[in-house]
Formats: sequence, structure tokens, C-alpha cells
Amino acid sequence: MLGYHVSIDDVKNLKYIEGLESAQIFLTNRSLHAPPNAFEALKKLLLKKELTSDEKKSSFYVNMMATIKFIKYFKIKVLIIHASYTTQLFSTKDDVFMRSLQDAYFYTSCCKVIERETKATAYYNIHLPKKTSTIRSDELSKLFKKTKKYILLETETDSPIPEFVESCELNLCFDTAHVSASGKDIMSTFKALRKIIACVHLNGNTLDVGSKRDKHCAFNDKENKVPKLEEFIKYISHFDLPIILERGAEVPSNEIKKIQQMLDSL
Ligand SMILES: [Zn+2]
Repeated sequence: MLGYHVSIDDVKNLKYIEGLESAQIFLTNRSLHAPPNAFEALKKLLLKKELTSDEKKSSFYVNMMATIKFIKYFKIKVLIIHASYTTQLFSTKDDVFMRSLQDAYFYTSCCKVIERETKATAYYNIHLPKKTSTIRSDELSKLFKKTKKYILLETETDSPIPEFVESCELNLCFDTAHVSASGKDIMSTFKALRKIIACVHLNGNTLDVGSKRDKHCAFNDKENKVPKLEEFIKYISHFDLPIILERGAEVPSNEIKKIQQMLDSL
């Protein structure tokens, strides 16, 4: 199920999503956390209660309605909401942790509304911690108990903790650029974690294997340093997983065509 990270406001580039089955978005702005004034509106959406006219004018509501329309129009089967980059569920700082917890409850509830309204599968994608020592197991097990169906934990460039993900039975988002930057082989790591992987971020990396840093590029870019990426695409075509290309503001239309041809020819 190929797709890419899209901005649903970017009308000019939306045509490339035609025929694809998955997509990733920032439901709000990429730097924003759960908008404080949107909780009441979200609660009403969940309970199917009438919203006030002010709530209907809020950017949260407008974005939600646009997202639902987008999914229905393009017949998207899997929609992924990407967390803000400053959302960190495994932070040692109280304020960051509390805000991230609030984000997680907020966006997984958005996933619930989206699923109910569109029948698409919806996930909230959040990055794994860099170190295992920062896990606050009490609050997190409470959160995951209620929301784990909707949560994807994404591999980081330096994330040592699939064991934690496995023990909580959480879904993993496997980012090829991050796994390679962590120094691991993408193929054997994917095979070892296959059971818990629910999504793939298919990215090349212009920075070295093991560098712990990533700068995304196309799978066939001359600068790509992720080994065996083409072989990996062929391998994962056997699974019914959403495959998301993350290329920033640039829409990877040529790459989409090439990967689709590869998948179709198998
Ligand atoms: Zn990613």
C-alpha cells in the first residue's frame, strides 16, 4: 500500500496521491501539539454531538473535515497522523512528558473519529526514545492499554528498544533511513521484527550507515547510502503494509511511479 507524506492543503501536488492507498499527514501544523481549545470539539465529535459555530470555524475542525474528505475522495485505506517532532513520550522532563501524553490521547482520539467516519485504518506515529532508561511505565501502560491499536512507534536513528515495544504489544513503524543510520542491516532487522511492524517509512539516507543521523532521499538517489534498499522494496511487496515515502515538501512523483512499477512487476 504505497503512499507518501502529503499536505492536504497542497492542491497542486495532491494529484500524485491518485491510485495510492496510504498517506501520512500532520493533522495540525508540524510544530503544533494538541490545540488546547480543541479538546471540547474533539469530545463532541467522538460523542456525535452538535458543535458550536465557533468550534466549527476552528482550525482543528476544519483540518479534521478536510482530512475525512481527503480519505474518502482518494479512497485511502491507511492514514497516518505524524506527531509533532517535539512530542516525546519518553522524555525525562515533566512538562515535555505531560504535553506528549496529552498529544497521544488527543491524536489517538482523532484516529478513532477518522476510522468511524471513513472506515480507513488510522494511526498516530510517534518516535521511539533514544534511551530505554526514560520510560515511565505507569503512565505509559495506562495510555497504551487504551490506545495501542492506534499507536505506531517509529524506529529512531539510535533506538535500542524494540524489546519494550514487543512487551507492550505495540505496533512499530520501520524507517529504513533510521535503522540504517543506527548501524543495523535493514533486511535482517525487518525480518526479526516483522510480527510487530505495521508500517514502513521507505527512505534513503544521504548520511553514512551507523552515523546516527539521517537526511532522507529517494531509494534510487546517487547519494543514498542505505544498502539493499531495492532488494528491500521487492521483499516487502509480499506484505500488505502501508509504505510511506517521506521527502519533506517535495512530492516524490517520479519515485512513486518507479516504485509502483517495481511492485506491479512482481
Ligand atoms: Zn520516518
